[in-house]
Amino acid sequence: MIEKAEKELNKLLNGNKNFINGTLTKKNMSLETLNKYAFHQEPYACILTCSDSRVVPEIIFDCGIGELFVIRVAGMTLGANVIESMEYAVKKLEIPLLILLGHDDCGVMKYAKEHYPEPSEYFPSLLKSVYPVLDLKEDISCHNFFSRQHTIWVEDYILKHSVIINKAVKQNKLLIAKCHFNHATGLVDIID
Ligand SMILES: [Zn+2]
Repeated sequence: MIEKAEKELNKLLNGNKNFINGTLTKKNMSLETLNKYAFHQEPYACILTCSDSRVVPEIIFDCGIGELFVIRVAGMTLGANVIESMEYAVKKLEIPLLILLGHDDCGVMKYAKEHYPEPSEYFPSLLKSVYPVLDLKEDISCHNFFSRQHTIWVEDYILKHSVIINKAVKQNKLLIAKCHFNHATGLVDIID
């Protein structure tokens, strides 16, 4: 399974090169493709990312209908529905690859930085999933470093709070790839 996941990850990173080079293949985007998957789906990657309008997985990875199981939520923040959506992808759809995709200039990271450590009147659920990164007291003056640290925190949180995902990783049924999307270059890089 992990070999398959690595292969799928490479495929997506190659798709990202197509996006950067302006050579998108725009495949599998027709009604015909949708009809093929009318009563079943077999996506090969689950992507958790931000709702940000600039971060569109199908475009930046050069994918079409039926390839990606995408969960988008502001700031790539976590809550029960988000975690269960990933668990559904892993347990029910048997997806071998989970990509956590943070990005540059994330509005939720900015908002959290402006309000930390005070509870904000707005967006408490979002802040609950970002403040713990600020609690680490790392130098997050570089905004994009902050976003990357958040992606690392997200993985850690998922592994601690999802029995299904933790077990799948331990059994080599699931590969989690922490990634970051660079707005200036369009590059998706892997966070070590
Ligand atoms: Zn964002």
